[in-house]
Amino acid sequence: MFKVLVIAESSGDRLSVSTLEVCRAASELSVRLGGHWGMLVDHRAAEDAGVVAPEVSSFDLQGIAYAGPEMLTDIAAQVAKAADLVIMPATSTGKDVMGRLAQTLDAPLAQDCTGFEVIAGRPVFKRALYGGKVTANVKLSGELTLVSFRPRSYAPIPLSDEVTKARPCKVRFSELMAAVTLQEKASSERPDVTEASIVVSGGRGLQGPENWHVLEDLLDALGPDAALACSRPVSDENWRPHSEHVGQTGRAVAPDLYIAVGISGATQHVAGIARSKCILAINKDPAAPIFKVADYGIIGDLFEVVPALAAAIRSGT
Ligand SMILES: Cc1cc2nc3c(=O)[nH]c(=O)nc-3n(C[C@H](O)[C@H](O)[C@H](O)COP(=O)(O)OP(=O)(O)OC[C@H]3O[C@@H](n4cnc5c(N)ncnc54)[C@H](O)[C@@H]3O)c2cc1C
Repeated sequence: MFKVLVIAESSGDRLSVSTLEVCRAASELSVRLGGHWGMLVDHRAAEDAGVVAPEVSSFDLQGIAYAGPEMLTDIAAQVAKAADLVIMPATSTGKDVMGRLAQTLDAPLAQDCTGFEVIAGRPVFKRALYGGKVTANVKLSGELTLVSFRPRSYAPIPLSDEVTKARPCKVRFSELMAAVTLQEKASSERPDVTEASIVVSGGRGLQGPENWHVLEDLLDALGPDAALACSRPVSDENWRPHSEHVGQTGRAVAPDLYIAVGISGATQHVAGIARSKCILAINKDPAAPIFKVADYGIIGDLFEVVPALAAAIRSGT
């Protein structure tokens, strides 16, 4: 029987939204392939995992606050051998863990997939290439295969009332893990940029880090589902953290609404935003390439347009 294992990402006692999304993929894969699926999760989120996954294995980090990619790989490698297919969200941590796991287990890996189909009883994964212009069909061969799915490729699996009891799994704690003391994950009130339904993204047009309050004010007006992003030069210049950099070499986002402010729309940037449902561009140059991919455009000075937009949203006009 085909067994799919989801390696969960969690923050405290909650599963991440992108984990709930890959649970949907795991569930669909196991139905289509006539198998079953389960989840490997930090014991603190085991109860949350129990309401979505039919089988839950939990591990206890023995007082360590946050499992980084090295630790998660170490734990997953001990459990993954029992599965046919291991899945994680293609977040920064997920891609990091899956790369390490592929090397540790000598297993083939397809990163950043957006879907799958079943051909002749085997899963074939969809992967966007050349900034989304081409979709590759990736077939993995091997007894154990690994796949990461891009956030927002699947709708999150709904929570059910039935709680599956987590089965604590026996994992050895390696010297590496014993050497790790405490690693706190940076916490933010805002959703991760890959999970947010609205993304407000700033480019070099902002002119410097001191002007980011203009975007933060718009973010506040838009509410708690909005997250900040930026173009690559902005993070290269250290105006914003690298985790917010969107594009070919950064994060790929797929929000309901992407607001590009002072961003020219270079192909490398557009590659990371092409799956957005709606793009609004604000730029003072009417010839900026971003307007070619935008659904809506405002031509004007962002320092006038953005505060006016935030005020209009607040007043409901
Ligand atoms: C291999 C490679 C990989 C790359 N990967 C990425 C990537 O992943 N992500 C990425 O973003 N880039 C990437 N780049 C860089 C990319 O080519 C562009 O250089 C970059 O996206 C440009 O960033 P920008 O739009 O913020 O800046 P600019 O190109 O400088 O554009 C700034 C824009 O702001 C507008 N503007 C200026 N002032 C105002 C104002 N007051 N009001 C309104 N509008 C204003 C201007 O009209 C202009 O359109 C990559 C490049 C290479 C070679």
